[in-house]
Amino acid sequence: MLTIALSKGRILKQTLPLLDKAGLKIADTELNSRKLILNSNFDDVKVIVIRATDVPVFVQHGAADMGIVGKDVLLEHGAEGLFELLDLGIAKCQLMLAASNKNKLKQHNLKVATKYINTAKRYFEAQSKSCEIIKLYGAMELAPVVGLAHCIVDLVETGNTLKANGLTPFAHIADISSRLVVNIAAFKTKNVHIKTWIQAIEKNL
Ligand code: AMP
Repeated sequence: MLTIALSKGRILKQTLPLLDKAGLKIADTELNSRKLILNSNFDDVKVIVIRATDVPVFVQHGAADMGIVGKDVLLEHGAEGLFELLDLGIAKCQLMLAASNKNKLKQHNLKVATKYINTAKRYFEAQSKSCEIIKLYGAMELAPVVGLAHCIVDLVETGNTLKANGLTPFAHIADISSRLVVNIAAFKTKNVHIKTWIQAIEKNL
């Protein structure tokens, strides 16, 4: 049995066609049900659809053998206990530092709003810049507008959200896309089964 953890939301919409092309199908009746463990067209493959931030946790602890999750989530989690084996090239965006103007970044005690607290801390430490990280769960772009923070660290795709809130990206922190990750122990014990699916997915990217 193989359990694959998929990230809910925008990644899921782009993941399902990739899996479908690789031959793994999950019926709409399964996806629209309230079940948490979904059947696929293979008796030996089950799928769970969970919050993106939970995917590396499930895979790390072996509750799922494989997972599909954004690089942003992996950077934040630390990717301990798992192998990152494929870049799926979907849900592409960039992790950026943004502010209303460059002078804001010169603040002595820089306040940074983000949901990526570990990644932001590492970024500013590497720049030898002290800062106060303010953890938010959404609407990061609002923080500089209302004076909660001087800048934000957030995902940028088209840049429209930044622009609409008077913000400009000033530094690129990481290129983001969805990755296929595998539990380290499962990669040994279920190697043939896992490799078969990875090859099928990779062939159809
Ligand atoms: P945009 O206006 O196209 O730059 O999109 C920015 C907004 O979409 C921000 O609120 C981001 O957090 C979110 N976003 C952009 N790309 C992604 C992604 N690949 N995964 C999750 N959220 C994203």
